[in-house]
Amino acid sequence: MPELPEVETVRRGLEPVLAGVRLACVRANRPDLRFPLPDGFVQRLTGARILRLDRRAKYLLAPLDRGDTLVMHLGMTGRFEIAAPEGSARPGDFARQVTPDDKHAHVVFETEAINGEDGATVTYYDPRRFGFMDLVATDRLDRHPWFATMGPEPLGEAFDARTLVKAFAGRKQGPKTLLLDQKTVAGLGNIYVCEALHRAHISPFKPAGLIAGKRLGPLAAAIKAVLAEAVEVGGSSLKDFAAADGALGYFQHRFRVYDREGQPCPTPGCKGAIAREVQAGRSTFFCPVCQL
Ligand SMILES: [Zn+2]
Repeated sequence: MPELPEVETVRRGLEPVLAGVRLACVRANRPDLRFPLPDGFVQRLTGARILRLDRRAKYLLAPLDRGDTLVMHLGMTGRFEIAAPEGSARPGDFARQVTPDDKHAHVVFETEAINGEDGATVTYYDPRRFGFMDLVATDRLDRHPWFATMGPEPLGEAFDARTLVKAFAGRKQGPKTLLLDQKTVAGLGNIYVCEALHRAHISPFKPAGLIAGKRLGPLAAAIKAVLAEAVEVGGSSLKDFAAADGALGYFQHRFRVYDREGQPCPTPGCKGAIAREVQAGRSTFFCPVCQL
């Protein structure tokens, strides 16, 4: 499943093609993805100009000049392919790269021609259809159920040690559970929570209320660092899109603990080995020696 850095990579790949551009033609090849497409989906998009391409947590947001925002979520297997005059690109085409099958091409956006240059075709593929798209009035977006209770963006200024002090105070649950709660911080998934807790040397299972306040600044910084580094890796592989199989991957080689059970802990001087525990169907990777 794409996590926040992968979605941000997709956003950066699509932005030059879609931001500020009018949609000349939109096709929906089926009435639904995970949910039904909204009423008048094609008509409301055709001829509209996309003002910007934003991201909130793992949602891509394309505010339109008509007052709606196109909200897109990639689910498990959603991805975009761009066919543009300069060549083809698949922003956020993850490690298991497969040639897109036309039967999974569910939504097609064609942009207007500019100065005699052909427009681009952006196709949304989603074999498992856990992704979804909706049109929401831009001035009501913050109150939409998806966003109303969502915490701050982890890469934004509103997220810092104070966010964690407030969220952890008096709580018996571990920091991992609280960080995965979208009300604490938006868009953090299992992989990057495991990575950040390891960097901050904090046990995923320690009751969050018992973690000393002075450790929460470094934890907030570790969360920002693991995400920013992954976005950077995604961004650098974005440049290689012209290379036919420049897969973006899940940046696995960068992980210190995720999916590394039994391997030596990468903390300098630590003799521990990475352990894995399964809770509620999710694996937690951590070092039992240096994460306390
Ligand atoms: Zn260790």
